[in-house]
Amino acid sequence: MNVDRMPDGSARCFTSIGCYPLFYVTKSVCLCPACALSREAEVEAGDCNWEDPDLTCDDCGERIESAYAEEP
Ligand SMILES: [Zn+2]
Repeated sequence: MNVDRMPDGSARCFTSIGCYPLFYVTKSVCLCPACALSREAEVEAGDCNWEDPDLTCDDCGERIESAYAEEP
């Protein structure tokens, strides 16, 4: 599936409406938007991370922000 892009061609990290953090999954791994872009052929789904504070990208190890589980 296609990874959502910004007008400059980089991966969109937040939804355009509501600004919710995005992540992507392949058959076996969870990816941040930037890594999903480089493995786009493998990406099977994308979603918003609503409330998982421990979600990390399996490629680069970056933590993927959550919409509701951030520390205040
Ligand atoms: Zn990554």
